[in-house]
Amino acid sequence: MAGMLYLVPTPIGNLRDISVRCRETLEQADFIAAEDTRVTLKLLNHLGIKKSLVSYYEHNKTQKGDFILERIRSGETCALVSDAGSPAISDPGEDLVKACAAAGITVCAIPGPCAAITALSISGQATGRFCFEGFLSTAKKSRREHLEALIQEQRTMIFYEAPHKLLATLESMAEVFGPDRSISLCRELTKLHEEVIRTTLSGAISLYQQQPPKGEFVLIVAGAPAPEKHTPTPQDAASRVEELMQTGCSRKDAIKQTAQELGLPKNTVYEAALALSE
Ligand code: SAM
Repeated sequence: MAGMLYLVPTPIGNLRDISVRCRETLEQADFIAAEDTRVTLKLLNHLGIKKSLVSYYEHNKTQKGDFILERIRSGETCALVSDAGSPAISDPGEDLVKACAAAGITVCAIPGPCAAITALSISGQATGRFCFEGFLSTAKKSRREHLEALIQEQRTMIFYEAPHKLLATLESMAEVFGPDRSISLCRELTKLHEEVIRTTLSGAISLYQQQPPKGEFVLIVAGAPAPEKHTPTPQDAASRVEELMQTGCSRKDAIKQTAQELGLPKNTVYEAALALSE
């Protein structure tokens, strides 16, 4: 019988956030694939669990991925954990899930801590519609390109960021989104120094120019304001009718098309066109 892969979220700071089901899965799995075995060992020691660990991280994921898949195919169950939070979200777990899915291996995700969702919920920004953008590139050019692709984004945006890159990222964001865009900087979530700073991009830049950023950050950036809708005036309707008639359209067709294009009732367009011709 084929085994399966469990995705086991681990605490993003507070070790008490491990769930009963995650704990049981770690206990019952045949082996644990971990991004950093030293980090996972600390968690396992805290939980009093002894289990064989396989390291699975960015630079060995191809070779170790095959090895893990082979063990699962032979009937073993694997629990995948990242350093913190939900595996497969901005970490190499994504590739292991893809490989299992492609091989027809069952993947079971256990819900639990995720830095992105924890930050979003505490941010005070709109949560109805959001998009996850993960880490921006360290290279200025590709970071700008990534942000420029988001200029029109109206949903709240979630970014992961390391403290040593934070200022450069905030500066690029202010250049692209404007200095007044609202941002919530969620730092050290669930830890002793948990902090949420709700400010603007320029406010965040001046703050971190004065005090170097420390700890782990999730940035929750407000989306772009919806573009103002132009309400068509009778003059707009009349001009459009005239324009269409000059291209050979009958008055009736021109009124119908204008009404459709401008989202106005046909009567209104008719009256506007009439008033102009009078
Ligand atoms: N897969 C994990 C998840 O979704 O929860 C995230 C992995 S990613 C490699 C690590 C990033 O998550 C950090 O650079 C930081 O942006 C964010 N992060 C993790 N723990 C955090 C915490 N306690 N407070 C704020 N951000 C955190």
